[in-house]
Amino acid sequence: MTTVLLLTATETAREDPSVTDWVTAAAAIVALALSIWALAFNRRSAAAAEDAAVTSRQASDHARTAAEAAEKATRVELDREHDRRAPDLSMATWQLNKEALDPAEWRDLYTFTVARPYLIKAIGVWAGGARKELDVKPERIGFGTEVSVVVNTRGNAAPPTSVELLFWPYRPRRGQAWFCACGRPASPDDGDGAGHWIREITVPRLG
Ligand SMILES: [Zn+2]
Repeated sequence: MTTVLLLTATETAREDPSVTDWVTAAAAIVALALSIWALAFNRRSAAAAEDAAVTSRQASDHARTAAEAAEKATRVELDREHDRRAPDLSMATWQLNKEALDPAEWRDLYTFTVARPYLIKAIGVWAGGARKELDVKPERIGFGTEVSVVVNTRGNAAPPTSVELLFWPYRPRRGQAWFCACGRPASPDDGDGAGHWIREITVPRLG
């Protein structure tokens, strides 16, 4: 637009040299006015762009906060489900099994009943830090039945001081499959063999 005005002014000046000065001055004033307008417009645009950037940043902050809150709520819910599916050991008992004729074969059993099938491993932990896998019956899998961990055989020098019980959800080939979606190891082969549920049981002094 500035160019058009200047051209018009130049042409007018060529036709009538007497008006050259005021035309030039007028063109300069128009050009200056346009520059000021353009500057103000650019500033307004920059301010508007900045406002838009702030609004967008706030929106993304809100979205992130909402996503984090949703993730936290999901985590809490998953952990609640995880706890709900945990084996209940509150009714577990210690027994001395005297079935064998030889008292050296008598066994200290830690017995509990599971409400759903788990894969179970039991690790005996001795005072010096030694660890050894213990027998779990029946066949290391609890089908909602009574499970016994053979914690010690009386002929052994010393019983473990504690037992680490590891549980995983067990999916039978038949029957209802179940699992826990919390993300902890799904089986003994998952990761470093850590249990999905881990329980530390202190071995009492048995008579
Ligand atoms: Zn879980």
